[in-house]
Amino acid sequence: MSQTTVDTLVIGAGPTGLGAAKRLNQLNQGTWLLVDAGKEAGGLASTDVTEEGFLFDVGGHVIFSHYQYFDDAMAEALPKAGDWYEHQRVSYVRSKQTWVPYPYQNNISVLPVEDQVKCIEGMIDAAEERVRAKDAPKTFDEWILRQMGEGLADLFMRPYNYKVWAVPTTMMQCKWLGERVAAPSLKLVVSNTLNKKVAGGWGPNATFKFPAHGGTGGIWKAVAATLPQEKLQFNKYIEKVDAEAHTVSLSDGSTIKYKHLVSTMGLDYMIDNIKLPASVNHGQLKTAVKDGLIFSSTHVIGIGIRGVLPPRIGDKCWLYFPEDDSPFYRATVFSNYSPNNCPQADKKLATLQYADPSKGKPSSEAKEGPYWSLMMEVSESHLKPVDAQTILAETIQGCINTELIKPDDEIVSTYHRKFTPGYPTPSLGRDAALATLLPALEKFDIYSRGRFGSWKYEVGNQDHSYMLGVEAVNRALFGTPETTLLNPDWVNGRRNHEMRLTPAN
Ligand SMILES: Cc1cc2nc3c(=O)[nH]c(=O)nc-3n(C[C@H](O)[C@H](O)[C@H](O)COP(=O)(O)OP(=O)(O)OC[C@H]3O[C@@H](n4cnc5c(N)ncnc54)[C@H](O)[C@@H]3O)c2cc1C
Repeated sequence: MSQTTVDTLVIGAGPTGLGAAKRLNQLNQGTWLLVDAGKEAGGLASTDVTEEGFLFDVGGHVIFSHYQYFDDAMAEALPKAGDWYEHQRVSYVRSKQTWVPYPYQNNISVLPVEDQVKCIEGMIDAAEERVRAKDAPKTFDEWILRQMGEGLADLFMRPYNYKVWAVPTTMMQCKWLGERVAAPSLKLVVSNTLNKKVAGGWGPNATFKFPAHGGTGGIWKAVAATLPQEKLQFNKYIEKVDAEAHTVSLSDGSTIKYKHLVSTMGLDYMIDNIKLPASVNHGQLKTAVKDGLIFSSTHVIGIGIRGVLPPRIGDKCWLYFPEDDSPFYRATVFSNYSPNNCPQADKKLATLQYADPSKGKPSSEAKEGPYWSLMMEVSESHLKPVDAQTILAETIQGCINTELIKPDDEIVSTYHRKFTPGYPTPSLGRDAALATLLPALEKFDIYSRGRFGSWKYEVGNQDHSYMLGVEAVNRALFGTPETTLLNPDWVNGRRNHEMRLTPAN
């Protein structure tokens, strides 16, 4: 079977792999190739379209860029003003049958008085504990208690984070939160509560951009289109990596030889499928994976609804759900991001069901819109199983329970897909595992990077992932230290504008 030889091989056409490819293309030094098992670019930042024409991302994807180099790539890929919509960040927490503006702690004035008291008492205890404590908190749970106290922990932080991560906060570390996160201001909370004030936390100009067409996946297809197409190969599945020989074997029987490998495959998959020389303790690497690399799966459930967007939804963007009246932790009003995320109003669609199926069987006649849509995320782990057969129905019921939709709303499209893995868990053993695994691979010129390539949630968003790829190339080719991988807190605390996409530097 055929063998190709390149200087740099990139595995994966998600944001990390595309970041690596953009940098290789910009530098124009040596030969390179990118391969992906999928049929197109995007990875977990892709978008599906239902039969009826509703778009759904892999959960709520919003860009909060920390990097000029990333912004340059966005502007190059989608350069026209009409390529993007700009939105105010409007976010709430559903709590005690009401919508509490985010951040929760600054708006507890909308909660029942007994809950306000619990929150404030907890914050006073937490402030005292911060003065008393000699050591830094070790678990996420200790961190929550020390920052916010028992009241906010029990009303929001613990139940919400269990729904997100599918493991209790006691099983998570807290270094990933960074040193910058300040405890909420007790004075502000008390003053807002006594003055019955509600205030958003994003500031007056907090906006975000979303692509007009093709959802989040549209961004990454556009980025891929700026690269030389002959260097991007899809439907190519990597089965094995031979560390010493510097080759990968593909499922079609071919092999690729490289000098440097930037891999965005899961780090666990890499360790399972790599051939290492006898001098390397492979068993120790497998143990590090088992002890430290934990993930949860994400179910994405979408519904398309006939009707005008109800005023109770208005300009809401994304909403958090800590309570157990819904299986999801987050809902996104996806039709608010772009009108093209839904079919146009003149498209005729039949009603599949009333939100509450006990309302009867709807007519099968296809009728016009308008339409709007909701996208929900549900986590799953061995500690928090999800029944794939019933989760769609449970999610729709959860939408009714939380007043997102009404029982007689007409549902015209549904979507459900499970993504494994979805979230890299900042487990107690993660950092020790990464400290063993990543350098062991780098000895063989393998740079495992990306959301699951380097397993760091705090630098696992699209902008970070893209830059992990860019910086991996700089490291492989020039030995430049990587800031995103090694200093998440630093890159997250500033605007990083040292590198630009054009002119080349
Ligand atoms: C539920 C959810 C919500 C999110 N919300 C946000 C958000 O609001 N904002 C934000 O910026 N980011 C968000 N993200 C993160 C964003 O999706 C990631 O940053 C990004 O997709 C990670 O890029 P990546 O390239 O590292 O990995 P991936 O996107 O996973 O890409 C990896 C690629 O490698 C390929 N691959 C894997 N194994 C092989 C193999 N053996 N052979 C060949 N190819 C292989 C895959 O096909 C895939 O295309 C979210 C992610 C999820 C899951």
